[in-house]
Amino acid sequence: MKKLLLIGAPCVGKTTFSNLLSIHYNLPLIYYKAKNPSLSSSRNKRGNPNRDSAYCNYFKQAILELPLDSGYIIAGFPRNIEQVMLMHIENLQYDLVIDLFQPENVVILKAKYREICIPCNTSYNSQEISIGEYQLKSLAPKAIGKCDHCEKDLVKRPDDEFSHIKRRYFDYIVNYEDLRKYFEKKDKYFIFNVTKGVEDFSRLVGEIESFYAKNKR
Ligand SMILES: [Zn+2]
Repeated sequence: MKKLLLIGAPCVGKTTFSNLLSIHYNLPLIYYKAKNPSLSSSRNKRGNPNRDSAYCNYFKQAILELPLDSGYIIAGFPRNIEQVMLMHIENLQYDLVIDLFQPENVVILKAKYREICIPCNTSYNSQEISIGEYQLKSLAPKAIGKCDHCEKDLVKRPDDEFSHIKRRYFDYIVNYEDLRKYFEKKDKYFIFNVTKGVEDFSRLVGEIESFYAKNKR
């Protein structure tokens, strides 16, 4: 059973792709649901050992609650090298780390128009984006401001605001340098350039399949 970690730039589509992969592979999806607001910020400041270990314990516990030998998809973890170290200590298992990438100008534009449904963790985006190779169709809800799945009101994420997203992207660039070096050495990692949004999904599945074929897991 596949054990995938989906990491990547803020607003790149981690939620959308992990939902699609969870359905495609029939794997449980684990993502951080904030119970403690002080831990809920997606900013990944270095040197916050309490938060790093809280994150790691959260995912470890979620895996323990799955049936034995179940595969899984973890979205949005790890975010910095300290969390990778804790994963190593806790022996948190994974086969492959997928790093979803989009450049800062694309991410900023997406964040500006992104709306989310908190109850069912679905993201929408009313804006088409056309920047060089990045051609993203809009993912607008059928009714303005309402979730297609549960009809709840859509909201803006406070951390999608311009200065926040700039900061989050900066954190991503700085923290991921170490992550990349570590996972690349383990040969369990690839960067996936998201140029067409959800239309990239079959290409992503192709890359995952060729990874597993090559590594025969
Ligand atoms: Zn919803």
